[in-house]
Amino acid sequence: MPSGALLMSSGCYLVQTDDGQNVLIDSGMPTGVDSPGPTVEESPEILMQLEDLGVTPHDVNTVICTHYDLDHVGRHERFINAAHIVQRRHYEHAAAGAQRFAAGRPHWDAPGTRRRLVEGDTELFDGLRLIETSGHAPGHQSVLVALPETGKVLLACIPSAITRSCWIAFA
Ligand SMILES: [Zn+2]
Repeated sequence: MPSGALLMSSGCYLVQTDDGQNVLIDSGMPTGVDSPGPTVEESPEILMQLEDLGVTPHDVNTVICTHYDLDHVGRHERFINAAHIVQRRHYEHAAAGAQRFAAGRPHWDAPGTRRRLVEGDTELFDGLRLIETSGHAPGHQSVLVALPETGKVLLACIPSAITRSCWIAFA
């Protein structure tokens, strides 16, 4: 890694439920983005990573978006069969024109997006709970999943956004 380089991981997750639902949590950075700052060395984008798992964009039933920063919304427009889940507070803030989320808008606000707005902590599926964790961004959300072997795992919870509600959720 060149000196002065920043190693950054932009995590996204695929959860497959017992009844065959594919739930994508965030989708990483879109490829081909011109960075005004340092050179970006890209990992394979989300569509290629899903293909390696045998999952096409049409197979994704739900996209959970923690927030609309560019490194979380790559290729949202390709998941046209999915319900896109976002906190109402976050969506309304971004849709009102917040500059921070403008670069990713072609992805998170593509025509035809089936959006479902939620308010606060929400049990989305049995064993998958959304937790409103504003802090990194207004209306940011994290995801608590109960895995059969591992137990409860908190995903996409940015440290600065950890609030009391996160810790309560583990109890
Ligand atoms: Zn962010």
